Amino acid sequence: MSRAKGAPTRREGRLTIQTVAGDAEGAERMRSLASVRRAREREREKRKGGTVEQARVAREVIIPDVITVGDLANRMATRGVEIIKFLMRQGVMLKINDVIDNDTAELVATEFGHTVRRVSEADVEEGFIGAEDVDDYLVARPPVVTVMGHVDHGKTSLLDALRSADVVSGEHGGITQHIGAYQVRLEGGQAVTFLDTPGHAAFSAMRMRGANVTDIVVLVVAADDGVMPQTVEAINHAKAAGAPIIVAINKIDKPGADPTRVINELLQHEIVVESLGGDTQAIQVSAKEKMGLDDLIEAILLQAEVLDLKANPDRTADGMVIEAKLDRGRGAVSTVLVKRGTLKRGDIVVAGDTFGRVRALLNERGEQLSEAGPSVPVEILGMDGTPSPGEPFAVVENEARARELTDYRTRLKREKAGSPIQGASLADMMAKLADKKVSELPVIIKADVQGSAEAIVGSLDKLAHEEVRARIILSGAGAISESDVMLAKGAGSPILGFNVRASKQAQVLAEREGVEIRYYSIIYDLIDDMKGVLSGMLAPIQRETFLGNAEVLQAFDISKIGRVAGCRVSEGVVRKGARVRIIRADIVVLELGTLQTLKRFKDEVNEVPSGQECGMAFQGFQDIKAGDTIECFTLEEVRRTL
Ligand code: GDP
Repeated sequence: MSRAKGAPTRREGRLTIQTVAGDAEGAERMRSLASVRRAREREREKRKGGTVEQARVAREVIIPDVITVGDLANRMATRGVEIIKFLMRQGVMLKINDVIDNDTAELVATEFGHTVRRVSEADVEEGFIGAEDVDDYLVARPPVVTVMGHVDHGKTSLLDALRSADVVSGEHGGITQHIGAYQVRLEGGQAVTFLDTPGHAAFSAMRMRGANVTDIVVLVVAADDGVMPQTVEAINHAKAAGAPIIVAINKIDKPGADPTRVINELLQHEIVVESLGGDTQAIQVSAKEKMGLDDLIEAILLQAEVLDLKANPDRTADGMVIEAKLDRGRGAVSTVLVKRGTLKRGDIVVAGDTFGRVRALLNERGEQLSEAGPSVPVEILGMDGTPSPGEPFAVVENEARARELTDYRTRLKREKAGSPIQGASLADMMAKLADKKVSELPVIIKADVQGSAEAIVGSLDKLAHEEVRARIILSGAGAISESDVMLAKGAGSPILGFNVRASKQAQVLAEREGVEIRYYSIIYDLIDDMKGVLSGMLAPIQRETFLGNAEVLQAFDISKIGRVAGCRVSEGVVRKGARVRIIRADIVVLELGTLQTLKRFKDEVNEVPSGQECGMAFQGFQDIKAGDTIECFTLEEVRRTL
């Protein structure tokens, strides 16, 4: 950075506007000011004992994913121009507020003699799944088994049959809930966890996320059908996941069953069963007749012993999401499989971009648990959304940490999705509003858990019609607060409370401001109610029923009544009080009139049939002429519903 020698000399040859304009003096003046300032600076630095360069202290510069030039300069305790100049020499033209990536920033900082510590937003992920446990703390855990095989070979039947091996069922009621996984407890005190997600899709989805929880694959092959394409697929999946296979040769009760054929066919796929000197166990079973199930379980336990499956139960839990759904009554319900540690009620769990405090833990029998240890599948209630299957979950120390993680992940997801979601949908909405007349019912939704709020929003969205729809001003979890009421007042919307109540102050405020709060405890009731309201907002349609036509033969004025038409009914009937349309030379001259008076000779009548003559007078229409056609019809208002 030695720019010590005379700026003036450099400047002399330079072509500036001032020199062109002959205002050399001005140029000189400007130059002087700047160079004097620089000279002074150099003086100062010298006095401090050294050149600018020497004075520079090597520091540790913290560099995030992206940084502006100005920011980087600050962190390096340098002036921005220095960095700009440096970058310029590298052929990059940047301004002080331009953003550079971390690689460039690192290059700059090291060039200037600093050390660099890169930090990344992604660092929040660090420690989400804790380090490996030390061997000393590990205790045996049940194996996690996935049943795979070709379609119709009996995966579902086998899983169902295996449920009956459960010894606890007798006393406590059987496995009733399909929560995506279940644990069978055996007489010997052991347990086996089955993933109840037949089909390779779920298995692959989980493996794709690198969160494989399956210890053992039970490969179901029908003895009467042999190795089929999906059998091969399953073998490949198991091999890729490094999970040992146990072959269950199913349907041996069938007349055409040929276990030897299955064993031979498996050879072609490098599955060598024990009877042929290999190390793969093959068990003959019948899911239908419940034959060989004990042998199969025995084989699983043996395999588990070989694998020496262990986990540390005395730590914060982590594991994997098996499935998740929005339940109408319970909000977001996720089934997770604990891999290690013990998951407890009250723990704060993060999975994907969702989190929540575990309100309840339920097992496959629908029983409430207070905790769940390694290899135990449980349903957890209390998450604020539904994480994807295969997503790792972990307990974090507090809510702040949970938010930090989920905020980051949400942001990442949005960035990946490309366009900012909100902007797009807003624009969408504006466009729709512009070309259609849509009436909107603004609503504010407060629910006990985020999951319920989401379910309600989802259902309300489904109610949307091209003319009416609900507009969600706010949806969230928690009691109805004063600020909700104020928001409702501003938006002219009611507040729908699902399993929540308004605080005392909010209630008072709502009464004073005339804001309606409706409470519900069943989502269907809420949806029905909203459906009713939205239906009410749909403009009724008018249904026209044709009655008859009449020709005007003559028109004359009668005092008191006004202008009267002498007509002949040419078609159908005409009826007093009915609606009329008057047409003259094929042009409608009166769109919607009322037949006020109908006379036959001197008498007022209600109806005149085709072929007869009559006198008519119309409400508010005095311009009737001979030759006009009168169309007579009734008009009904029909209410529409969603
Ligand atoms: P998946 O598609 O692999 O889940 O197969 P399923 O469990 O749905 O079974 C397919 C069909 O095979 C069903 O009609 C079952 O009743 C039948 N099945 C399953 N296991 C047996 C068995 O051991 N013996 C006999 N005879 N039929 C079976």
